[in-house]
Amino acid sequence: MSLKAMVFIDGSWLYRSRTALFSKLGEENFEIDYSRLPHIICDDLANAIDEDISIVRTQYFGTIPSARSGFNTLKQRSFYEFLERACRYEIDIHEVDVGGDNRADDSWISMALASTLLFYAAMPNAYDVAVLVSDDPVYAPALHRARQLGRRVQLVTIHEPDGGNPLPGMSLIWKNRVSDFSPIYLDDHAQEMKLVREVRRRTCKQCGREEETTWAGMDFFCSECRNRRHRSG
Ligand SMILES: [Zn+2]
Repeated sequence: MSLKAMVFIDGSWLYRSRTALFSKLGEENFEIDYSRLPHIICDDLANAIDEDISIVRTQYFGTIPSARSGFNTLKQRSFYEFLERACRYEIDIHEVDVGGDNRADDSWISMALASTLLFYAAMPNAYDVAVLVSDDPVYAPALHRARQLGRRVQLVTIHEPDGGNPLPGMSLIWKNRVSDFSPIYLDDHAQEMKLVREVRRRTCKQCGREEETTWAGMDFFCSECRNRRHRSG
């Protein structure tokens, strides 16, 4: 029987950690392969403990500027929609007022993530292993309690720019009683996490014409139909 893993992603932490992934590969920027991310982590865990892991759910926690802030949030909304529809993530997004204190965003994320993690920890058979994609020490009490409920915890962190461990006091990996396995370092998997876009021929949803594209989303529209939609929109 395989162990059931639930993956909890702190969107704010993952966003901040991207630069370490880029520099690992000596690049300035690349797209992250979000649909593979949970599998890359859980394959690593499965190898380390020599047990099969099945991912029951991936929960993503993030924020978005509120409507009254005046920001154009279209791009961000379509990113979250992509995570939900194409990557099958469970999305938990909170509207925040931007321009003020950024910590307000983060505290919403950590509170929502910690309560969801504990909620499922207390639910019989929901998961065996909580995989936390964040090393923020703020999660320590929730992880401690989840383990008291008999769940196991896998931490996911990232190396410092010099290749060393995160600093004591800055990372969960130094806390006692919060995890059951060696931490997984995302930057060790930078190459696998880089999205490689495949060129494929796809059929336009509107006119039925075929065209080469790297677009991997659900609905494909050819360049002509896209332009027409753009002009009329
Ligand atoms: Zn078309």
